[in-house]
Amino acid sequence: MSVWRIPLADIDLGEEEKAAVLAVLDRRWLTMGEETQHFEQEFADYVGATFAYAVSNCTVALHLACLALGLGPGDEVLVPSLTFVATAAAVRYVGATPRFVEITSEKDLTISPQDIVNCITPRTRAIIVMHYGGYMCDMPSILNIARQHNLFVIEDAAHSPGASLEGRKAGVWGDIGCFSFFSNKNLSTGEGGMVTTHRQDIAEKIRVLRSHGMTALTWDRHHGHAWSYDVVALGYNYRLDELRSAIGRVQLRKLEANNQRREDLVAYYREKIRERVPNIEVPFESHPGQSSYHLMPILLPRETPREHFMEGMKRRGIQTSIHYPPVHQFSAYQGITLVQGRDLHFTESIANREVTLPLYPMLTKAQVDEVVEAIFETLIETQPNH
Ligand SMILES: *Cc1c(COP(=O)(O)O)cnc(C)c1O
Repeated sequence: MSVWRIPLADIDLGEEEKAAVLAVLDRRWLTMGEETQHFEQEFADYVGATFAYAVSNCTVALHLACLALGLGPGDEVLVPSLTFVATAAAVRYVGATPRFVEITSEKDLTISPQDIVNCITPRTRAIIVMHYGGYMCDMPSILNIARQHNLFVIEDAAHSPGASLEGRKAGVWGDIGCFSFFSNKNLSTGEGGMVTTHRQDIAEKIRVLRSHGMTALTWDRHHGHAWSYDVVALGYNYRLDELRSAIGRVQLRKLEANNQRREDLVAYYREKIRERVPNIEVPFESHPGQSSYHLMPILLPRETPREHFMEGMKRRGIQTSIHYPPVHQFSAYQGITLVQGRDLHFTESIANREVTLPLYPMLTKAQVDEVVEAIFETLIETQPNH
């Protein structure tokens, strides 16, 4: 049982997922197989990708993306600093250097196309964008810049299954899309992820690298000798299993309706915040495209001490979080230099004021009222001269 009256996130899990898992157990085939193939096909169809490969999580999806594009030592990859650390870690796994890029503004927390241009050097090979909270990055501008400078584009779509811009879904704009099915994401299998691409050459690399660099599956099909396979690359075991794929297929069928629930709740949050606590800013007021509403970020008034605020919410049984402490400020990233003479003004100012409120499909409007009332009370408490 949760210690929170209103937790930050919660999963819509029920009888359908239970039945799907039990059916897999009855079939007695647990590692990657038929269920995973169906999940991949259904996911590819849903987002409009030519190829989709299920993997253990989004972090390894990002690693595979960097490997498949041949990124390595001496290469620079542009990444937002306002993201989960895995976005930047994947670049370091292959020996390349992440360069941290600013967000667009305090109203739009996605990577700034203008600052991408500022950060390009002769060594820049790729850009990893992240659709913050489910709100799409400015993909038309980013793809234009990428074309002009001959850069690959990877989408960290961990927040954004079902989000779209100009009718085109997140994860199919760039060369490769990476999705997460971690416990608190919009589509959850506990642990899990998906790599999408429209490029046959990349698809083949990802398929092989996901499973030890072995050619066994295709070779086996053609020749019928299960013991005779070649290893054509230094591969990994990044597979997903049938139990998780079975859960994923059910979750995928629920995704649209659950994203719609999230949208209604965000609209209600905005209305209530405007009425009751108008000094709270809510980013992405008029953002283009369709969000998947993964997060409900707010910005506290500048004078409000965030830890006191979060403590006040906790005393009222409401869980809040921070998305994100900027990656460039982490100890393990201190050696990773920024482009000379730059500071990430918006990223750092956001990082000190942002608080994420509870948002999940089963949240009720009455609970949103409670959260907003708690914000009202907590803001009074945390006023400097209270
Ligand atoms: C959750 C998340 C990841 C990592 O996903 P895992 O499936 O947990 O590895 C990567 N990037 C972002 C932006 C995330 O939110």
